[in-house]
Amino acid sequence: MLDTKVLQDYIRTIPDFPHEGIMFRDVTTLFQDPRGFRLAIDQLLAPFVGQRIDMVAGLEARGFILGGAVAHQLSKGFVPIRKEGKLPAATIEQEYALEYGRATVEIHDDALKPGDKVLLVDDLLATGGTAEAGIKLIERLGAEVVGCAFVVDLPEIGGRQKLEAMGMAVHALCH
Ligand code: 5GP
Repeated sequence: MLDTKVLQDYIRTIPDFPHEGIMFRDVTTLFQDPRGFRLAIDQLLAPFVGQRIDMVAGLEARGFILGGAVAHQLSKGFVPIRKEGKLPAATIEQEYALEYGRATVEIHDDALKPGDKVLLVDDLLATGGTAEAGIKLIERLGAEVVGCAFVVDLPEIGGRQKLEAMGMAVHALCH
């Protein structure tokens, strides 16, 4: 039978995770379905085909799964942007605000070259704080973010406006 599911149909919502009142968009059900995963990767990279991209960067942790597959499809390398203390070699770090408190992400200081064109990938855009920190790390290494690609955008939270105000091209597959 013809599978008529669209990308959204592969994502489930888990109420009260990780805290009461949060509706968590769970993309593991998208990743575990071969057709859903293929749809997601093809659609994430579609607007960037034909553009110069030297490297794909992914935000921990689901951005690694998506970004790795996007990089493979584009025949490019992959750079992880990780939570602090996880990367083994010399890093630069960037702090950002969370709902409660602050967090830090890091990138290896030799992961990108000045002038590299980078596609940044993550599963979900909420406040945009995580992506903004990733963009700052990439730019501090002298590289340029050509676009930010997400599976889910939560538009009411304002991440897209934040990133677009920084001059970013924001691409999301569903809302
Ligand atoms: P932001 O920094 O934009 O507020 O939050 C986005 C980050 O938090 C992403 O790295 C994303 O993985 C994670 N995140 C926040 N809420 C959700 C959610 O409902 N589902 C998933 N899959 N990730 C979320």
